[in-house]
Amino acid sequence: MADDKTVTCPDCKGEGVSRGYACPGFKPVEIPCLRCKGAKTVPEEMLQWIKNGAAMTEKRRAAKIPLREEAKRLGIPASQLTDMEMGMVKND
Ligand SMILES: [Zn+2]
Repeated sequence: MADDKTVTCPDCKGEGVSRGYACPGFKPVEIPCLRCKGAKTVPEEMLQWIKNGAAMTEKRRAAKIPLREEAKRLGIPASQLTDMEMGMVKND
C-alpha cells in the first residue's frame, strides 16, 4: 500500500501557505496552501495527478477546446474539471 505515503507539497514547497495579493489595496496575504490545505505534505500519488492534469490541459488546449465545453462533454461541472487539470483530485 503506497496510499499513506506523503511528499512535500510542490505548490508551497512545504511552507503550508500560499502567498498572494488581496484586493483591495494589494496587500500581501498568506493563505493556507490550496493544494495541501496547510498540511505541508500531499499524498505521493498527487504528483501523478499533477502530471496527468498537465497532460489533460495540454491536450485540451492543443484541440482549442474551452474548459467549459470540455466539462460539458465529460458531463462534469467546470469546477471539477479545473480541479482535475490542476491535479487536485484523482484524474486517471
Ligand atoms: Zn501546499
